[in-house]
Amino acid sequence: MIAAVAEVLDSQAYIGGPKIAELERRVAALSGCEHAIAVSSGTDALLACLMALHIGPGDEVLTSPFTFFATAGSIARTGARPVFADIDPRTFNIDPALIEQAITPRTRAIIPVHLFGQVCDMDPILEVASRHGVPVIEDAAQAIGASYKGRAAGSFGTAGCFSFYPSKNLGAAGDGGMIVTHDPALAERLAIMRNHGMQPRYFYRFIGANFRLDAVQAAVLLVKLPHLEAWSEARRRNAAWYNARFAGSAVCTPYVRPDCASIYNQYVVRLRRRDEAAEFLKARGIGTDIYYPLPLHVQDCFRYLGYSPGDFPRAEAAAREVLALPVYPEMTEEQREYVAAALLEFCAGEP
Ligand SMILES: *Cc1c(COP(=O)(O)O)cnc(C)c1O
Repeated sequence: MIAAVAEVLDSQAYIGGPKIAELERRVAALSGCEHAIAVSSGTDALLACLMALHIGPGDEVLTSPFTFFATAGSIARTGARPVFADIDPRTFNIDPALIEQAITPRTRAIIPVHLFGQVCDMDPILEVASRHGVPVIEDAAQAIGASYKGRAAGSFGTAGCFSFYPSKNLGAAGDGGMIVTHDPALAERLAIMRNHGMQPRYFYRFIGANFRLDAVQAAVLLVKLPHLEAWSEARRRNAAWYNARFAGSAVCTPYVRPDCASIYNQYVVRLRRRDEAAEFLKARGIGTDIYYPLPLHVQDCFRYLGYSPGDFPRAEAAAREVLALPVYPEMTEEQREYVAAALLEFCAGEP
């Protein structure tokens, strides 16, 4: 990585250039899309897509209440209204059966979020979206390289958005993101959008912003990308090991649909006494995290949307019970056993 970064420093091509183009080619290929547009973050990938699809005030965009803030934050920043539909309690992803009743004449897009590295049940989502003529933008920030029915995350909808935030399976040395699409016209619009809507130089076709990715980040990502598949495989191995170790215990292990290959950006279990369990593990030097402790429909900043506690009971239950355990690829068997034994010790005596 140091050599790759030094190459960029020597070239002084800090914005755009061959590293960006190469990264775009590679991510397009791995996601099964013809076009990829490198951007400044996963958040900006979502925002740029919504802007490129002319979404704004008066519009509604449907998504999950159980996701990272950026999914709904980007919708709100366009002036559109985030509208939520509850999750499937087993996968934590938006429940396709609940989408239709949340669609109104103002619905302009659906953003399914492939949470924790597992692709949503895309067939029924694409079916309802196409019946209503609504584009689908995949929030695949946690799912680069994941698949559903043999097809890659990001390739199902009008556009797919990835994040290279350092904690994602493919992490940059800072912020970064990518949009993939099959649509050449949308790809061209996004490429102009990320550079203020400028074309040609100092003439502006529409109002974009600075959504560019740094060449230094592309250089780092190009070094890491060839390892992505092996890293995701190691996470799957860790997950399978935990699943077997927790079988028959009070630890509710993550459900992955048989037609999905998860990349386990997180390995998330459900526990009735979640907060106490997290404290117990912390006292033994085990890092855990809660993705996410409060669903978006009850966040202060979205009070104006008019939702109340109880509106999405499955998301609210998940927020009370989920705990992410260490699953990073370099974990040793000894480390996995240390984590599992501690959690099983905590759960001993639970029904
Ligand atoms: C990380 C993440 C984002 C935002 O990506 P950034 O690169 O951090 O801006 C959006 N959605 C989900 C589900 C994420 O996990």
